Amino acid sequence: AGSILWFRQDLRLFDQPAVRAVAADGPVLPVYVLDDETPGDWRIGAAQRWWLHHSLKGLSAALEDKGAPLLLLRGKCDEVLAELARETGIRRVHAVQHHEPWWRRAEARLAKSVELVLHHGATLAPPEQVTSRTGASYRVFTPFWRALLDQMPPHKPEAAPQSLKPLPKPPRGEALADWKLLPRRPDWAKGFDVWTPGEEGAKAALRHFLPEVADYDATRNLPSVEGTSRLSPHLHFGEISPATVWHMASKQAHARAGPFLRELAWRDFALGQVQQFPRLGEENGREQFDGFSWRSINARSGKADFEAWTRGRTGYPIIDAGMRQLWATGWMHNRVRMIAASFLIKHLLIDWQHGARWFWGTLVDADYGNNSMNWQWVAGTGVDSAPFYRIMAPLSQSAKFNAADYIREWVPELSDLDDAHIHEPWTAPSPPAGYPEPLIGHAEARARALAALDAVKSGK
Ligand code: FAD
Repeated sequence: AGSILWFRQDLRLFDQPAVRAVAADGPVLPVYVLDDETPGDWRIGAAQRWWLHHSLKGLSAALEDKGAPLLLLRGKCDEVLAELARETGIRRVHAVQHHEPWWRRAEARLAKSVELVLHHGATLAPPEQVTSRTGASYRVFTPFWRALLDQMPPHKPEAAPQSLKPLPKPPRGEALADWKLLPRRPDWAKGFDVWTPGEEGAKAALRHFLPEVADYDATRNLPSVEGTSRLSPHLHFGEISPATVWHMASKQAHARAGPFLRELAWRDFALGQVQQFPRLGEENGREQFDGFSWRSINARSGKADFEAWTRGRTGYPIIDAGMRQLWATGWMHNRVRMIAASFLIKHLLIDWQHGARWFWGTLVDADYGNNSMNWQWVAGTGVDSAPFYRIMAPLSQSAKFNAADYIREWVPELSDLDDAHIHEPWTAPSPPAGYPEPLIGHAEARARALAALDAVKSGK
C-alpha cells in the first residue's frame, strides 16, 4: 500500500492534484529526480538550476512540515522510479501530467513497470480537451482562446492536505548541496536576488501583482514600468497553479482581468502546440524556412555578431538593455524579448534556434513550449506567427514604448543621455565613449532580410 509522489514542474502543495490524491491513500514517499539524461539537449539550463535549488529547498521544508520528507534522487527518471518501486514495494506512482515530449516518453516507459496515475494540473484546461467541434486541435491562438473561454473558469483551487503519512522506513536519498546547482566562481547569479523561488515566493509575487491587474493592458508593453506579474518562473516550475492565478486575478479585477487572463492563456496554447508538434523547439513550423540562408555562427562575422547580441553590445540600446537584464536577473520584459529576438533573426540573419538556446540557458522561466513557440512566432517560421517580412524597427519600438528609463537602468554608460537621444546615442551632441556602434543599420538590415526571404520563396 501507499504511493510514490513524483514531483517535476509542479513544485507546490496548494492545488496540486497528485498531492491531494496521495494524501488519502496511505503512506507517501515524495520524490524529486534530477534527470539530465531524459530531456537530452533540453536538460535544465544554468539559470534554472539556481532556481531549482531554492525551489526544492522550500518544497523539502514544506513536506517535512506535513510529515513526509522529500527524497532526492538522480538519474534517468523512469529507471530511478522503477527501481524505487521495487526497493520499497510501492507499485503506484502519482504525478502531474506534463506535455514536453521527453516527459511523455518517460511516462510511457515508466507505465510499463508501475501503476502510473497522471493528474491534470499544469494548464488551465487539458490541451486535448480544447478542440474544435470536430475534435481538431487549434493551430491559431484566437479560436483556441474562444474555445478555452468556454471551459473557464478552471476548477476551484484546492487546499493542501493537513498532513501526509510517511513511509515507516523511507530510503536514503541524496543531499541537495551535492547536486551543485548553484553557480560557484564567478557567481553570476548575484542579480537573481530579485526573485524568491518556491511556493511562498510565488504567492507573494501574485499578491504583489494583483493590484495592477486592472491596468495590465495599459502598462504591459512598457519595459520601464513593472506592469506584468513576473510569475513566469513560478508558473514554469509549477509553484503556483494557473487555476489559482486565474481565480485570484478574476476576483481582483473582474471584467478588467481579461487582457491578463488572455496572456496567461498563451501558456496553455503553447503547451497545446507542444502536444501537436513535439519538435516545436527544433524544427520550423513552416518547412519553407528549412532552406533559408541563415548566417553561420561558426563563421567569423556571424560568430562576432552573435556574441555581441548575447553580451548586450549590439549598439542598439533597447536590445542591449534587454540582453543585460536577461544575464543579470534571468528574465527579460516580453516586449524587449520580441525586439531582441527579431533583431537576432532579421537584422543579424541568425537562425532563431541559436537565440532560443541562449534563452534556454539564461532565463529562469525557460520553458520548452513558451520559448519555442514565441521564437517561432517572432521568426515567422511558426504555424501561428507574425509573417517574416514584418520586420520590427528597434529604434521606433524603443521610443514608442518609452524604454528610456529601462535603458538607463541596464546600460549605465548611456544613463546621462536625455529622452531625445537615449534610443539612438549616435545622434547625441557628444555620444558616450565606450558604447558600441550599431552592428548594422536598420535600413540595410531590412533590405538584406527581405532579399533572403525572396531567395527562399523563389527556391534560389
Ligand atoms: P505576464 O505578462 O504577467 O503574463 C502572465 C503569464 O502568462 C506569464 O508568466 C506566462 O506564463 C504567460 N504568458 C505571458 N505572455 C506569454 C506569451 N507570449 N507566451 C506564452 N505565455 C505567456 N515565457 C516563458 O514563460 N518562458 C520562456 O521561455 C519564454 N520565452 C520567450 C521567448 C521569446 C522570444 C518571447 C518573445 C517570449 C517568451 N516568453 C516566454 C513569453 C513572455 O515573454 C513571458 O512569459 C513573460 O515575459 C513573462 O513575464 P510575466 O510573468 O511578467 O508575464
